[in-house]
Amino acid sequence: MNARLDHRNLLIDGRPVAALSGRTFETLDPATEDVIAVVAEADQHDVDLAVAAARRALEGPWGRMRAADRGRILNKLADLIEQHGEEIAALESRDAGKPISAVLRQDLPAALDTLRYYAGFTDKINGQVIPARPDALTYTVREPVGVVAAIVPWNFPLMIGMWKIAPALACGCTVVLKPAEITPLSALRIGELSLEAGLPPGVFNIVPGFGRSAGQALVDHPDVDKVTFTGSPAVGRQILAGAAGNLKRVTLELGGKSANVIFADADLDAAVKAAASGIFFNTGQVCSAGSRVLVQDAVYDEVVERLAARARGVRVGAPNDRATAMGPIVSQAQMQRVLDYVDIGVREGATLVTGGARVGNRGYFVSPTVFADVGHDMRISQEEIFGPVVSVVRFSDEADALRKANGTRYSLAAGVWSRDIGRVHRFAKAVKAGTVWINTYGYTDVRLPWGARATPASVASTATPRSRTSPSRKRCG
Ligand code: NAD
Repeated sequence: MNARLDHRNLLIDGRPVAALSGRTFETLDPATEDVIAVVAEADQHDVDLAVAAARRALEGPWGRMRAADRGRILNKLADLIEQHGEEIAALESRDAGKPISAVLRQDLPAALDTLRYYAGFTDKINGQVIPARPDALTYTVREPVGVVAAIVPWNFPLMIGMWKIAPALACGCTVVLKPAEITPLSALRIGELSLEAGLPPGVFNIVPGFGRSAGQALVDHPDVDKVTFTGSPAVGRQILAGAAGNLKRVTLELGGKSANVIFADADLDAAVKAAASGIFFNTGQVCSAGSRVLVQDAVYDEVVERLAARARGVRVGAPNDRATAMGPIVSQAQMQRVLDYVDIGVREGATLVTGGARVGNRGYFVSPTVFADVGHDMRISQEEIFGPVVSVVRFSDEADALRKANGTRYSLAAGVWSRDIGRVHRFAKAVKAGTVWINTYGYTDVRLPWGARATPASVASTATPRSRTSPSRKRCG
């Protein structure tokens, strides 16, 4: 591994700096448990400096820059990330335990696509002239929200980081980003490249550290205008409460327990293949993972059998091996959480068809796991496990499928498989999910909205992989 990774600093006001406290923490390779790098640990004092730098940049060079020039810098950053693509992908793969092939195929292209999409927005953000009265010119002007705190999880550090940074910068905001403490490395590398691309000092600051210190300091900070967060519902609630102090704007994305619903008349080859990748992609650490597969009675046993066969065939291994399909869980704590859920499922009386165990004793690998005979009310059918564990639940008819699909506290995504065109569209309308995939699963695109059912729904099908209804909610800041 490159020696430059051994010690990494915060990025504040365009400069790599140690934490004021001098404290550091280690980031591990979840496939080997080796330390990859020692990282400066930000706390409230470093956050104060970062927020002050972001405020100065907002009111200084970034705020005064032509919108088109902001766009050019963001496009330059995208070009630099692309030029260093192999290096950044290797870093992400090692820090988060993601198969390198998946990072190169999915995470990196999606991050670049996001950045370029929003780079094109900078000079197309218009106000309106509103004819309120005849004796006055009345109009709106769109202003940046201000200093944005971006708090990022560990499951897609690069891609979700970019979902937050790119729209904020495109809109003229400045950013203080706190990566997850277990996956800080790709963000720090992007920070270096952002300076090379010409982002003025202070526009993009990075404060690696822990949620309870650096994260909470950002949330509580009186000079932060907005918090954008992806992670657990528990922390989401704390963020909402903390943000009330200065009435910050908040955007939250808190996960799911998405139903992938297979009717008896579906193309079972396609449905089972997608059901497997819907839960085993990224080791199941995906907010929209199809973690509940609902299957109609007549094909239930066949689907369980075929899904289990696919699970047994998933190539689990070292992330840097290009043939690996599934890497480790991101940390020991998350691995333990997943294994605890396997125990819960067995105790609840579900049938463990395959998997459910740690693989080897070095690295946090868990075998792809299929539970059958899962009752709709069981915890493994209701709670987000965030690992390669699928609960296969039986249903009798369309009404039963809908009741079960809608019967959790989540509403992020759903899939529906059937050859009956009337049924799939009826179901897509009735199911409580922000995104519904019809005869496909997992397709995402920065051009489409993303969020729980309270936001405009998007419907994608294999025939037309596009948003069908879309007053598109942009992920602004
Ligand atoms: P988490 O919510 O604790 O961490 C996510 C981010 O929030 C990290 O950067 C963390 O440092 C930060 N954070 C934690 N406490 C904070 C606080 N008080 N104030 C501000 N920031 C804070 O998630 P986790 O503990 O790493 O994972 C637990 C569970 O969360 C997972 O098992 C999964 O169910 C869920 N999760 C969901 C997503 C998603 O994509 N929706 C991503 C990661 C985790």
